[in-house]
Amino acid sequence: MDKLGLLKTFFGHTAFRPGQEEIVDALLSRRDVLGVMPTGAGKSVCYQLPALMLPGLTLVVSPLIALMKDQVTALAQAGVPAAYLNSSLSFAEHNEVIRSARAGAYKLLYVAPERLMAGDFLQLASDVEISLVAVDEAHCVSQWGQDFRPSYLQIPQFIGKLARRPAVGAFTATATAQVKEDVRSLLRLEDPFQLTTGFDRPNLYFEVARPKSKDAWLADFLARRPDQSGIVYCATRKGVEAVCQRLEKAGISATRYHAGLEDRERRRNQEDFVFDRARVMVATNAFGMGIDKSNVGFMVHYNMPKNLESYYQEAGRAGRDGEPAHCALLFSPGDVQTARFLINNASENEALTEEQREWVRRRELRCLDQMTAYCKTMGCLRAYLLSYFGESAPEECGNCGSCRSQLERRDMTREAQMILSGVARVERKYRRGLGAALVLRMLHGSRGQRVRQLDLDKLPTYGIMKDVSQEQIRDYIDFLVSEGYLALGEGEFPVLRLGPRAAGVLRQGERVTYARRVQKPAEKLRPAREAAPSAGPEGLFQALRGLRSKLAGEEGVPAYMVFSNAALADMAAKQPGSLEEFQQVSGVGTVKTAKYGQAFLKEIAQWLESSSDGGEGQEREK
Ligand code: ADP
Ligand code: ZN
Repeated sequence: MDKLGLLKTFFGHTAFRPGQEEIVDALLSRRDVLGVMPTGAGKSVCYQLPALMLPGLTLVVSPLIALMKDQVTALAQAGVPAAYLNSSLSFAEHNEVIRSARAGAYKLLYVAPERLMAGDFLQLASDVEISLVAVDEAHCVSQWGQDFRPSYLQIPQFIGKLARRPAVGAFTATATAQVKEDVRSLLRLEDPFQLTTGFDRPNLYFEVARPKSKDAWLADFLARRPDQSGIVYCATRKGVEAVCQRLEKAGISATRYHAGLEDRERRRNQEDFVFDRARVMVATNAFGMGIDKSNVGFMVHYNMPKNLESYYQEAGRAGRDGEPAHCALLFSPGDVQTARFLINNASENEALTEEQREWVRRRELRCLDQMTAYCKTMGCLRAYLLSYFGESAPEECGNCGSCRSQLERRDMTREAQMILSGVARVERKYRRGLGAALVLRMLHGSRGQRVRQLDLDKLPTYGIMKDVSQEQIRDYIDFLVSEGYLALGEGEFPVLRLGPRAAGVLRQGERVTYARRVQKPAEKLRPAREAAPSAGPEGLFQALRGLRSKLAGEEGVPAYMVFSNAALADMAAKQPGSLEEFQQVSGVGTVKTAKYGQAFLKEIAQWLESSSDGGEGQEREK
């Protein structure tokens, strides 16, 4: 069978995504490959398909145990013989896998890098033909990557011991020049075919929100998508605990993940999420690299991350199934303080000299500035991200928070003058300054105890903004901070001071223009590049989902491994009546047709019958 036939039969895809075919061809011609593709672009197919076509065995070096198990289960679902070797196996299981591999039972064998140089593994490697070594998460070989793993340095040593050098394919989502160069040289790739696919993920909707209450925003956001599951990232463990508790209290099925939990609980919570038993995962960035759940419909960053690399990688875990997914970042000026604090107080890296540490710190602060600028940009968010990653992009994408909102501008010179002179008075009276909350109450003319204790009601600026709501004043202050008219100090109780641009307003009568993005009235999303499957009737889709859960439960696999949401949506639209038609559904391969076809055909027929009269029948006409 040819490439396309195999792609459809085993993986259910009717066409290659950009870059995949070129990489497959290079590996089939036994050329080394360096593939740089964003998370969710479809790296696995690039080596799984050649593995099916090349003689002998393909080794996949992968850093994470959870990821291996997931991939092997998914391959088994698709009918591809595969296994893994890592520390989670018992001695007997380990031996069994080695024995079967020697007997030629697998096309793919996933292996942890630490295992490569073990005696029994080297013996196996010399007994069987290895045509391809695929290195997943290849940036782990580089000290410049985010997850340096010294055991990756053994990979070229291992390859050197093989009787015949296989093709080596290295894959990563990290695109910086330094990491690429390290991967090439440290893995000793030979004249590799290099391909960096576009970093755009058209089905992801990006948004930056500055809600007054992040919790209220989150509650509303979740209420709007009761059927979707997704991840909420928090900056700290404490944050994870608090947010998760509040969600559970609000009756939302949520679980949590951070490095402070016991191994067992972490594993259980992760499974609850992967198996759709918990709808929302609240986690620190410790969660994610091993997660291959394709039906993640939203990704909320409760706090701003430290840099755009982390942000894009984390956000990119949404929508891997190609369905539209929502990536929101909840910004508050305090997040910048927290991130800066974390950078300045990073646990000391023993391996670095004082000078190197200082250099790293500076670099991280620069990255933080760019992250902050992303949160504040009034322009297209996707354009900002893509240009940060070195790609050109149209000025407007039509599918992000900026493009779908209007810029509202108005003059706020008078309000700015009042606030700035209020801060100036406070600065003069209290040399150490006061926090924003107190300044706000002074301007608004509140009567609180602290206000009187501090004699704030004696200042001439006391109550000059009594006609403006407290929320509105808060909003103005935030805006003035973000534009550099005011400055917020560091630490746990940051004080508000005049910023570098204040003098122009107070002394030279410069004008201040308030600008804000407001949501445009409901407007259709621009369709994603990969034609989103046309939706069928909702009732049928739900019926198919129910069947999928039932089958997945019986088999003990996550629901998305039976079929993706995209596949179910296409099924609901096409309403196949035979196995031949069933196989035309996108995401449905031959093995899965044989396995699940009858059950789904029956469900579809039943649904059509029960809804042939009444409203739903008409819906089908659309
Ligand atoms: P990555 O490892 O790059 O993050 P994966 O290999 O996990 O991405 O693939 C992400 C998703 O894209 C999977 O759900 C996979 O089924 C889907 N996918 C991969 N290739 C194709 C294709 N050619 N057509 C449609 N979907 C694809
Ligand atoms: Zn845009």
